[in-house]
Amino acid sequence: MMDLGIDLVPVEKRKSKPADVLSVAFGTVFTDHMFSMNYSNGKWKNPMIGAFQSLSLSPAALVLHYGQGVFEGLKAYRRGERVFLFRPDKNIERLNLSAERMVMPTLDNDFALQSLKKLIHIERDWVPQVPGSSLYIRPTLIGVEPKLGVRPSTEYLYYVILSPVGPYFKEGFNPVSIMIADRHVRAAQGGIGTAKTMGNYAAGLLAGTEANRAGYSQVLWLDAHERKYLEEVGTMNIFVMFDDEIATPPLGGTILSGITRDSVLQIASDWGLNVKERRISIDEVMSGLKDGKVKEIFGCGTAAIIAPIGTLHYKDTPYTVGAGGIGPTTQKFYDEIVGIQSGEREDPYGWVIEV
Ligand SMILES: *Cc1c(COP(=O)(O)O)cnc(C)c1O
Repeated sequence: MMDLGIDLVPVEKRKSKPADVLSVAFGTVFTDHMFSMNYSNGKWKNPMIGAFQSLSLSPAALVLHYGQGVFEGLKAYRRGERVFLFRPDKNIERLNLSAERMVMPTLDNDFALQSLKKLIHIERDWVPQVPGSSLYIRPTLIGVEPKLGVRPSTEYLYYVILSPVGPYFKEGFNPVSIMIADRHVRAAQGGIGTAKTMGNYAAGLLAGTEANRAGYSQVLWLDAHERKYLEEVGTMNIFVMFDDEIATPPLGGTILSGITRDSVLQIASDWGLNVKERRISIDEVMSGLKDGKVKEIFGCGTAAIIAPIGTLHYKDTPYTVGAGGIGPTTQKFYDEIVGIQSGEREDPYGWVIEV
């Protein structure tokens, strides 16, 4: 591996790894080491890999008050002794786009990828083996200058932490039930919906909590302007199958450009499916659920990969999607993407990269 000038301060006493990673709640166990790097006076400095530990920040750090922070989420998968990443270059590109939107400095793409690989290489024993498990990677960039004036920070911290995970939903790869948010919205045109930035998740907490209280796993967001068009489902992109057409909302400025979404689009077009990026109204979905035109709905994102949606709750009424189970097309996408990630299927796209 090339010399990246990263200071390595290995931890002496290693933690014990979870005995059953599938039963660990998502993102609650962390590995021994983290990567970190500081930015000040217009330059990145002090790249290092050291102990996973609490940060020391001024209580006045800008991120804590004004939310100037962005992050990414990707996974490392084990195949025997080897460890692989899925399209990590896309995550780094998106991290930089998010950073630009939030007026933060960007990272050198190549350095960011190499440093990520180096950290994972050091922590490779933490990449779990059981099917359905992986090592979740969370690169994070925050403004840390201590200042209560509202403006972009002049000092930043970039860090990467790692967490061995099982399935994102307690249901595993099984249908989830979703509540349509008809009062709250996630992101408006001109806002920060396309950036993977903290404020978007804060905006979603109340609707998500209300949905959980009513027994649903996540919410389906409608557009902020008319509450008419589908946007995303929780922190996933969404696909709807109408008879033989498979549709997903276009990236219109409010939707996060998911890498799983992009992968589904490419696979669907290679399979010769009738796939479209187009506006989908909630009325079209509701009438399609009633007359059977809507066959399947699924969410997609790194954490859950593909999440079949079995029930949609709209204005006090739950509607079953298809037969309420996992639709055949949803299953096919899941098998293909998981197959490529795990190495069980061929990767004609060059998406999988060895650490
Ligand atoms: C991260 C995220 C997604 C999924 O993106 P992937 O690159 O597929 O993981 C979708 N929507 C939101 C709001 C997200 O934060």
